[in-house]
Amino acid sequence: MLMENCGLFAAYSKDSRYNVTGRIIEGLLALQHRGQEAAGIAVSDGIKIQTYKGKGVVNSVFNKSISQKIKGYFGIGHVRYSTNGFSNFVNAQPLTVRYKNEFFSIAHNGQIENSAELKKIFEEKGSIFMTTSDTELIPHLLVNNFKKAPSKWESKEVGKVIDKSIGPSYSLLLLFENKIIVLRDAFGYRPLFLCETKNGIYVASEDSAFKIFPLRDANIREIKPGEAVEIKDGIIKSYEINPNKNYKFCFFEQVYFARPDSNVFGENVHLMREKLGELCAKENPIDADIVIPVMDSGFSAALGYSKASGIPLEMGLMRNKYVGRTFIDPDIQERKLGVRRKLSPVKEVIENKRLVLVDDSIVRGTTVKYIVKMLRENGAQEVHIRIASPMVVNTCHWGVDIPDKNDLICSTKSLKEIEVLVNADSIKFISLTNLLNSLGSDGRKYCLHCFQNDWGETSF
Ligand code: SF4
Repeated sequence: MLMENCGLFAAYSKDSRYNVTGRIIEGLLALQHRGQEAAGIAVSDGIKIQTYKGKGVVNSVFNKSISQKIKGYFGIGHVRYSTNGFSNFVNAQPLTVRYKNEFFSIAHNGQIENSAELKKIFEEKGSIFMTTSDTELIPHLLVNNFKKAPSKWESKEVGKVIDKSIGPSYSLLLLFENKIIVLRDAFGYRPLFLCETKNGIYVASEDSAFKIFPLRDANIREIKPGEAVEIKDGIIKSYEINPNKNYKFCFFEQVYFARPDSNVFGENVHLMREKLGELCAKENPIDADIVIPVMDSGFSAALGYSKASGIPLEMGLMRNKYVGRTFIDPDIQERKLGVRRKLSPVKEVIENKRLVLVDDSIVRGTTVKYIVKMLRENGAQEVHIRIASPMVVNTCHWGVDIPDKNDLICSTKSLKEIEVLVNADSIKFISLTNLLNSLGSDGRKYCLHCFQNDWGETSF
């Protein structure tokens, strides 16, 4: 499966006696699905910044005593999956640096396209780098543009420097000793939300992270593409950094990354996936006994497929919630084991049945192959795979670790070859044309690059 990008969370208490560390950790837990390699926080008490981070999931990095030791009334947090740089401790974020006797911290979601070039320029000027992550370029870019101490940098100017230097795809939290600056790129590739309650101000990659607050108390809005938000002295200020209206919202957020209870790019994710399932059923009907979802991300699409086709939805595969997602296993043998640990077939449901197996997407094709094998071992009579998105035929340059085209099953094989390879009775996708027709004018706001070949067409 695909590697995700990262998750960002920030909290600012309007009461400076309140410690926000626990709040940030809670926020990161809600965003855990966006990155499981490392987690970290940086918190300011208005005078100094303290940082704590580690490798692994949020619950393994933090414990109660840490949330009591690290104190401050505003701060930022990060859960990481690396799209650039290795998965080691030194690359965990927030990245905290010191300049002119002041600390500042960075939590970054995105990919700096020209990072190799920028690094070379800085190294030739004598800069050294402690990490292999492209995020470390950001403090270098900033201190090269501002000569005063960081707490005196103007938020709008910071936004402009970042926008012209590290675009096109980024979401960024910058923590200073006196404020937080939040930046979202002008194309809006990744979602980013702002929430204000009576007592605090919060930022998160997905609005589902705000569900810890009673809805009636929370004033939530999406941070606009190209907007900079400053949170200082309990007040929110907004600046337009780049007025671009040519959005490129990542469609994979809708298909797979975001939580179903999130609302990204103006749509509820569960309802969007259900719609995609319906679309897939109408385009690719099949005579079968039951629809079964590949849990968890395939559930909403399977529900849509079932509703549109009239074929009952059954729980033919149970998911063990206490096992991490399989994509964290880089080795194929481990991935195979990961599928068996994560998904368990219910023989009594699938035996002697003609199945429609619904999933959200196929990247390398290895996971689905093992699932079909398990279903057949448990007596499935026929297995028809239906994918509630178009074929993934291209890589991503904007922060998602989609493999090289040579490793994408849909880029290298025909539908017939895929059917044989994964041992399915049939396999079908939503065509890109059908998806675009169903999105109507909304289609223009999405990035669909990974579903198109280099000529801008689907590989069908
Ligand atoms: S190429 Fe695909 S994964 Fe990358 S931003 Fe576009 S839609 Fe998202």
